[in-house]
Amino acid sequence: MKSIKTQLELARAGVITEQMKQVAQDENVESETIRQRIAKGEIVIPNNPLRKSQKAVGIGKGLRTKVNVSIGTSSDICSIDAEVRKAIAAQEEGADTLMELSADGDMDAIRREVLKAVSLPVGNVPLYQAFKETGRKYHNPAKLDPEYLFELIEKQLEDGLSFMAIHCGINQYTIERLRKQGFRYGGLASKGGTFMVAWMDATGKENPLYEQFDRVCSIMKKYDAVLSLGNGIRAGAIHDSHDRAQMAEMIINCELAELGREMGCQMMVEGPGHVPMDEIQGNIMLEKRMSGNAPYYVLGPLPADTGAGYDHITSAIGAATSSWHGADLVCYITPAEHLALPNEQDVREGVRATRLAVRIGDIAKYPEKRENEKLAAMARRDMRWEDLGKYLMFPEIARQMRAERSPREEKTCTMCGDFCAMKKGMEVFSRDIKYDKAII
Ligand code: SF4
Repeated sequence: MKSIKTQLELARAGVITEQMKQVAQDENVESETIRQRIAKGEIVIPNNPLRKSQKAVGIGKGLRTKVNVSIGTSSDICSIDAEVRKAIAAQEEGADTLMELSADGDMDAIRREVLKAVSLPVGNVPLYQAFKETGRKYHNPAKLDPEYLFELIEKQLEDGLSFMAIHCGINQYTIERLRKQGFRYGGLASKGGTFMVAWMDATGKENPLYEQFDRVCSIMKKYDAVLSLGNGIRAGAIHDSHDRAQMAEMIINCELAELGREMGCQMMVEGPGHVPMDEIQGNIMLEKRMSGNAPYYVLGPLPADTGAGYDHITSAIGAATSSWHGADLVCYITPAEHLALPNEQDVREGVRATRLAVRIGDIAKYPEKRENEKLAAMARRDMRWEDLGKYLMFPEIARQMRAERSPREEKTCTMCGDFCAMKKGMEVFSRDIKYDKAII
C-alpha cells in the first residue's frame, strides 16, 4: 500500500479530517480543538483507510475515557466462533476498542473474522503470532527472524488493524535493570514482552523493535495506525510497581513516543499492570510529563494482588482512579483474570465493570460533565422509573431486577418497602422543591 498522510500529519497541516469531525461530534468538542490536540500528539484516532466500516474513536486529552476489550485464543482453549462471539459481546456492551490477542489456532483467520464481525477499532500484539509461528516452524521461538517480524506487522495491518501494541521499549539496558535489582517478587506479566526478553537473552542481540524503531514507525504510518508502545516489563505485582526495570522501560517508551510523533506517526504509551492505589496518580503524572502528554493506555491497573475471581472489581477500582488522574484508555479485566481464558459472560461482566469505573473516573476528571448523574438522582427521588432508565448505564439489568422483585406499592421498591425514605422525604418536602431541583 502506498503511503498516506496520517491524522497527525494532516492535523499539523491544518486539515480537519472526517474522523476528527466524527470524534468532535461524539464528544461534543469543537473540531478545531480535536485537530489542535492531535497535532500536539495529545489525542490519537486509531484509523486504517483499508477498513471502511470502522468507527472513528478519539483517545486522549479532554475526551471520555475509553474502554478496551482484549479477546483471543490460547493454546488450551481455541475456537474462532467463541472469539467472534466475544468480540460481538464486547461491542454490544459498549466497549470502545478491541484487541484481538489470539495466541494459537489459525491466527490470520481469527483476526479477519473478528475484523468482519465488529465496527470497533481493532488492535493486536504482533509478537504473539511472530513467536507462535516461529515456534511451529523451528520448535524454538528464539529462532524468530526480525525480517519475518516486520513483514508480519505489515501483513496484519493489511487486514485492517488500526492500532498495535509493540514492545519497542525493551532493550538490553532494561533487562540489565531486572537482573541488577534481583528480578522481581511477582515475575513478568507481559506475554509478548517476556518472549522478546527471552529472545534477547538467547541471541544476545538488541531488540529489533527498539533498534529499528524508525522502521516500525514508517510501517505504522503507511496505514495511519496508532503505535501503542507496549509495557513489556510491566509489574505483575504491586510490590514490583515502579521498580527500576519498570521505570527504565517507561522512560524509553516516553522518549520513543516523542521520536515517533516527530516522524508523523500517531503514538500512545501503554502502562501497567499492577500498581497500589497511592501510586496511580504519580504513575500517570510521570507518563504525561515524560511523553509530552501522549495518550496513556493502562491495563486497569490492579491495586491489589489477592482478588482473583473478582479481579474485574479489583481492576475497576484501579480504573476509576487511573481515569480520574488522566488515563485515556483503560483495558478491561474480567472475573477470569489470572485464572482462565475469559468466556462470553466474563467479557460482558468485565466491560460493564470497566465502563462503570471509567464513568466514575470521568465524573471526577470532568466535573462539568456530571449532568447525567443529577438527572438520574432526580428521577430516583421522584420515582420516575421509566425516566430513570434513560440515565442509567445498565437500564435493562435495572428493569429486570425491579420486575423480578416488584413492590406492593409502585412508589417504592422492595429494599425498604414501607420504610421508603424517598417516598417519605417527598411527602414532607415536595412543595418546597424549587430552582434547578424541580423537574426541567
Ligand atoms: S424503598 Fe428504599 S431503596 Fe427503594 S426507592 Fe425507597 S428508599 Fe430507595
